[in-house]
Amino acid sequence: MKTAGSAQEPIISIYEQFGVEPIINCSGTVTRLGGALMCQEVLDAFNAAAQDSVPIDHLQAAASRHIAKTTGAEAGLVTAGSAAALTLGAAAILAKFDLGRMEQLPQTRGFPNRFIVSRDHRNGYDHAVRAAGVEFIEVGLNEIVSNAGVRRTEAWELETVIDDSVAGVFYVLSNSSQPPLADVVECAHRHNLPVLVDAAGELPPRENLKKFVEQGADLVAFSGGKAIRGPQSTGILCGRKELISSATLQMLDMDEHFDLWEPPADWIDKSQLNGIPRHGIGRALKVSKEEIIALLTALDLFASGHFDDQVATMQQRLEQVVTGIRDLPVEATISESPDGQRFPLLAIKLTDACHIDATEACRQLRSGSPPVYPSHGRLHEGILMFNALSIKAEQIPALIDRLNGTLAT
Ligand SMILES: *Cc1c(COP(=O)(O)O)cnc(C)c1O
Repeated sequence: MKTAGSAQEPIISIYEQFGVEPIINCSGTVTRLGGALMCQEVLDAFNAAAQDSVPIDHLQAAASRHIAKTTGAEAGLVTAGSAAALTLGAAAILAKFDLGRMEQLPQTRGFPNRFIVSRDHRNGYDHAVRAAGVEFIEVGLNEIVSNAGVRRTEAWELETVIDDSVAGVFYVLSNSSQPPLADVVECAHRHNLPVLVDAAGELPPRENLKKFVEQGADLVAFSGGKAIRGPQSTGILCGRKELISSATLQMLDMDEHFDLWEPPADWIDKSQLNGIPRHGIGRALKVSKEEIIALLTALDLFASGHFDDQVATMQQRLEQVVTGIRDLPVEATISESPDGQRFPLLAIKLTDACHIDATEACRQLRSGSPPVYPSHGRLHEGILMFNALSIKAEQIPALIDRLNGTLAT
């Protein structure tokens, strides 16, 4: 293995030392490209945490208090990503404090395991909910997509399918989710059903850390490795204390004696348990002490507005790109941050004068050196999207070169 730089030799990145070329990440925080880059404060916290041992249950109890303060929820848990938070949240709703059920999951014979979900909230990430043993009952119709009407799922439709087999309601947040979360919560709570919310990507704005709990959601999942900029293998589950306790019990390593185990009482009420569960369904979803500390550090920075200044820098970097590609046969448009927190985005629309289409452009940008990864969500419109969150200042000239080299006629 080579080490970094003598005068003649360029510094080789740690990835190159292991044979992988770093990319110019124009896709923001997507998991496929490694999520957000962590700032020095978070890396320092990670390193410091690696130098002492602590009981993980005490650490998660402290994390719970910290997350509670930041989100306004009763309690919280640092999870192995938002997807893990969804599995644990579902497991908590299914098992509560029933040790037999915890042992049984994801098998659910003998107890309610169905969650109601609006048909248009279904998405690939809900596998994480089903992984706990949940079966979905879908309500509503995709009338808008099928061009057969204008109505979305309505709250009354949830109510029509409630019976004894139903354990909870699953809700996926986006800026267009219907019916409104508050209406779904009202309907679910009238039937004593908890609502599990996937808000993985709903930050920023940071006000959303509190908003969904305020609207009555019983459990909310956020990603730690997206805009919070913590380790990408982290997430947050926050919400009602007894559900968070159950999720925690199903995640922690439980190789412990009941008589010796002393969980902080404000966190897990030991008197509600008649024993310690064995390793639960979440044992496969563990987080390290370093990840917990790094996530909490990143969360504090995010919640205090520490990253807001970066929005102007992102805007400038995108403007630099637009200037650098002014001779290309493309239409480049920057949509500014709507609130000073959300990320500005650059759309590059290929015109008919381009010699390749957007998909081919994306393929060539990825395969050259340095590799460039634009967002690919609008290729069908002939558009390459650029999010500057994970583009480093020193990468801008190379990005401009690669765009000019790929798209010049
Ligand atoms: C990113 C995302 C997830 C998964 O989050 P991880 O933290 O990567 O596990 C789940 N749901 C939605 C809607 C997401 O955008």
